[in-house]
Amino acid sequence: MAYTGTPQPLTVHPRRPNAPPALPEARVTGADPLLLGSAVGPVRAAELDAAFHELREALAGRRIIDVNSTMNGGGVAEMLHRLQRYSRGAGLDAHWFTMRGDPAFFALTKQLHHFLHGADASGPPIDRAGAEHYAAVCEANAHALLDVVRPGDVVTLHDPQAAGLVPHLRRAGARVVWRCHVGADDQNLHTARAWAFLRPWLETADAYVFSREQYVPGWLAGRRVAVIRPSIDPLSAKNRPLEPSAAAAILSRIGLRAPADGDGDGPPIYRRGDGSVGRVRRDPTCLCSASPPPADAPLVVQVSRWDPLKDMAGVLTSFAEAGGSLDGVHLALVGPDVSGVTDDPEGGRVFAECAALWHRLPDRVRTRAHLACLPMADTEENAVIVNALQCSAAAVTQKSLAEGFGLTVTEAMWKGRPVVASAVGGIRDQIEHGVHGILLDDPRDGVSFAAQTSSLVGDHRLAGALGAGARRRVRENFLDDRQLLQQTSLYQNVARV
Ligand code: UDP
Repeated sequence: MAYTGTPQPLTVHPRRPNAPPALPEARVTGADPLLLGSAVGPVRAAELDAAFHELREALAGRRIIDVNSTMNGGGVAEMLHRLQRYSRGAGLDAHWFTMRGDPAFFALTKQLHHFLHGADASGPPIDRAGAEHYAAVCEANAHALLDVVRPGDVVTLHDPQAAGLVPHLRRAGARVVWRCHVGADDQNLHTARAWAFLRPWLETADAYVFSREQYVPGWLAGRRVAVIRPSIDPLSAKNRPLEPSAAAAILSRIGLRAPADGDGDGPPIYRRGDGSVGRVRRDPTCLCSASPPPADAPLVVQVSRWDPLKDMAGVLTSFAEAGGSLDGVHLALVGPDVSGVTDDPEGGRVFAECAALWHRLPDRVRTRAHLACLPMADTEENAVIVNALQCSAAAVTQKSLAEGFGLTVTEAMWKGRPVVASAVGGIRDQIEHGVHGILLDDPRDGVSFAAQTSSLVGDHRLAGALGAGARRRVRENFLDDRQLLQQTSLYQNVARV
């Protein structure tokens, strides 16, 4: 039942006179969901195709709209690219807008993000003026959206940034879903602060989506709540198989691997989503590295936003303090360009702290540690660099102090890499300790982090077994067809409200 109609054109909306400037819209090209069959098999692909068909009928031309606060960097943007891509490919009138906000708005919403993770936040208390500013920014964004949202459209608002749009869009007749990508396993004082702020905005939503059961606050009892685990696209530039020689050429190009001897590396090229050949051209926007890791050195990789909860500094410190057990091993801590993630005001500070730590390392460690900020100008170029790093890694780490889900873990597992990760949040749903990777009970325990990492790097059989288990786990549970099936079912219910 593949959709054979005309692909949806990118938005050309008639504008109201004197309407506020439109919100930025992501230009996502549709892809037929049946293409996923090459990774998930024809039966799963056909099931998804049928679900899209039913949703198309239920929507009868109404739109599916996502609203978040950044098009680049972080798991939400990563997922929306593909959920939109397959929705558009299935013939839905799907659109994705990003909010506008100023530094004060994003500082406040980043505090809410930390609170929802159950963590304290370093910013000033959220006072009345802050709350009024949040309300004003959300109202301005809602007004800009009212040009494109029609009664009956299904609008998903993501995370604390977009929560303040709920009442505005409900009043405009939209069906509103609020999706929260962060959470804490146990509710505490900080989560209570976040909910006290957010709840009045969220009361009228038609449905709520969380990544884990544990993240659902008690006050939502009796409401329409779905638990939908995030997922990855096996066909994207980030997750498609990459030949070792292509990965090596890409890492050499960006200075994270010494060039090969003799004939040298091939060109740093890859296949883009539209079938054309892409070439990695941009350098890291910041690089702390004495010299590139030798081609044959085992590489331990952590890819994350520069966020204190990802604990890049903790990884660097435990690597430095590991003594001889990690001799010969190189570490790459890699994140996005700190100016590229518009809704994350902490990136610059966290990277600067890591860079300062790196400068203070003794020579014997500093020569084996590498920090890189990847350019974000071209999403596919960024993605293929992350792919090259993950698939070349002897071990991938995710030493997060809290984690909504942890797509970087899923991505590494899909590539069959052995993962050492903290037993926090959604990482616990992905990895069963000793079967699909290694879980660390205490995310702050740098000593056992280094010990587990070195044991994985030194034990190829264990690494191979965990990597194989990890790939199976992702294929069964965390590829996009699974998430899209749940999402289409929720949207059908919401569309019928
Ligand atoms: N990511 C990326 N480029 C970078 C750093 C991160 O594309 O330079 C991606 C990463 O591959 C993953 C996402 O950002 O897909 C991070 O998602 P995750 O769920 O791990 O964490 P979040 O940032 O949402 O807290």
